[in-house]
Amino acid sequence: MMSCNLDNIKVVLVDLSGTLHIDKIAVPGSQAALQRLRVAGLKVRFVTNTTKESKGFLLNRLNKLGFAIEGSEIFSSLTAARQLIEKKKSNPILLLENEALEDFKGIPTKEGQPNCVVIGLAPSMFTYEVLNTAFRMFVMMLKVLLKLGFLRFWSRLGSIAPAMKK
Ligand SMILES: [Mg+2]
Repeated sequence: MMSCNLDNIKVVLVDLSGTLHIDKIAVPGSQAALQRLRVAGLKVRFVTNTTKESKGFLLNRLNKLGFAIEGSEIFSSLTAARQLIEKKKSNPILLLENEALEDFKGIPTKEGQPNCVVIGLAPSMFTYEVLNTAFRMFVMMLKVLLKLGFLRFWSRLGSIAPAMKK
């Protein structure tokens, strides 16, 4: 086993999927490895770029697999998205599966006034209708920033079909 000096290390960032577990199976030895990090006095945080499941969903799975982890130790892509939404006081359209929506509880979504779109791994949301709605909202935002004439074709066609220049 490789050894190293941990004196200067304050925090260890641990990936979840493929590192601690693969789907519903713990990676052999990973619980013991985590315990050794804790015994060594290192702060441990768990990071993941998954967008299909909330922090609570992940925590439940990890705890069932025997990992002693607190929810406050997990930081996911959804955590980052929520923090950005709160910082910018945005009103998002959330294209997320139900398993992920929990991480956005309390985020106000005013019907008809969204100003950003959060897109996660959400196959059930990837319909033409939903994506077209999100795209139209995006184009409306661009109209504020750009000259209207630049985007004229979007208004005329009313869809995400590309404009044909004559
Ligand atoms: Mg991974």
